[in-house]
Amino acid sequence: MQERRKSSNVLLNTALQEFYGAADEMGLSERLINVLSHSERMMKVSIPVEMDDGSVNVYDGYRVQHSTALGPSKGGVRYDLGVDMDECEALAMLMTWKCSLAGIPYGGGKGGICCDPLTMSRREKEQLTRTYAARIEPILGRWSDVPAPDMNTGGQEMVWMLDTVSKMRGRLEPAVLTGKPVSFWGSHGRNEATGRGVATCGLELMRVLDMNPDNVTAAVQGFGNVGSYTAKTLNDAGVRIVAISDVTGSYYSAGGIDIHRAFDAVKNHPKKLLEGFESFGNCEKIDDILSAECDFLFPCARDGVINAQTAGRVKARYIVEGANGPTTPEAEEILQSDGVMILPDFLANSGGVIGSYFEWAQNLQGAFWTEEEYNNRLVHIMKGNFRRVWDWAESKRITMRRAAAMAAIQRVAEVCEMRGTFL
Ligand code: NAD
Repeated sequence: MQERRKSSNVLLNTALQEFYGAADEMGLSERLINVLSHSERMMKVSIPVEMDDGSVNVYDGYRVQHSTALGPSKGGVRYDLGVDMDECEALAMLMTWKCSLAGIPYGGGKGGICCDPLTMSRREKEQLTRTYAARIEPILGRWSDVPAPDMNTGGQEMVWMLDTVSKMRGRLEPAVLTGKPVSFWGSHGRNEATGRGVATCGLELMRVLDMNPDNVTAAVQGFGNVGSYTAKTLNDAGVRIVAISDVTGSYYSAGGIDIHRAFDAVKNHPKKLLEGFESFGNCEKIDDILSAECDFLFPCARDGVINAQTAGRVKARYIVEGANGPTTPEAEEILQSDGVMILPDFLANSGGVIGSYFEWAQNLQGAFWTEEEYNNRLVHIMKGNFRRVWDWAESKRITMRRAAAMAAIQRVAEVCEMRGTFL
């Protein structure tokens, strides 16, 4: 029997150990455990970019397909200095469970480029994105691998990638990427989908716990795509958002942050940041959003922010993970012994991939849904998935993370057995 995998990369090791733990608890066969603890395909590419000063930088790009058992691999493309093969593999595995749990016909994938996009010009980013797309093009396809935006990428990057792939193939390929702008084969509702889904999970938790949103306070870490729409949806539902944050710092107001003003601040900032918000947002700057007094914490920025060093500072009683992997296993142990409940990322932030599936399905049909249609379907699915995991966790007396993992792995395992192990 082959030895089980371990990794020195914290995110990958967390993903592997969580998988092994859930697989053992549900009695999954050792051969399936072995297959599903490895990725089907991992691609590394070099991306030369001519910088504005005439020099050439070569960046490392990655695309990982963890599993295509349930369908084409699906997962975002992120631009960040922390991107490497291990991180992509961990996130691709997470996507397999996320898609499975969400009940959509996708496997799990992830990609990205190790770079600092905040220091790059638009022209440099365009060249970076187009060359990346060209180099991973052989493994992309509407029935094989369908990327989407992630940290520091958005509609513009998706259009550059789509345009590059379409030109290489001599035909338009709208369904090969999701997260496109509405004006170019995107879908109404997709931009807000992840945040709307995160907030929906939080609101469902309040509902089953008999908490009135009007009496609930929340802190939202990160004010990018996920954090901003999480905050907006919660705010619209009556929750008082007492703190928000981004790379420029944390902003606090006991009486509640004016979320619409925060949206304006980001819109008007050249790098889409909250910088200076304390001076016109009627709030104060605090050192650490994790220690803000609130009932619910929504970490929507990046992985590993709630760790052994920071977990003790968390004041919230409920954490809803908008980001992927924001809580390390050591932190989760500390928080659990403090009685803090955590809604795991692959349940809470699955609105993004469910929304991507809606966009893909529309592209395949050449159809366009209204925003209302899109949002209603999204919220309906998110509520159902929350309820399923909640009931399972209650009946088995296990954490929401373990219940979600077991439900997700079960579907993938069943299909692997039906299709044959060596997918
Ligand atoms: P984004 O780049 O749009 O926003 C990230 C935000 O986090 C920015 O406001 C940034 O300033 C802030 N940030 C970064 N580091 C921080 C730190 N240490 N402290 C406080 N703020 C910090 O990215 P996004 O698309 O919103 O993604 C955020 C997270 O959600 C990532 O983990 C991503 O993988 C995950 N996610 C995104 C989607 C999606 O549809 N965009 C879907 C599922 C999961």
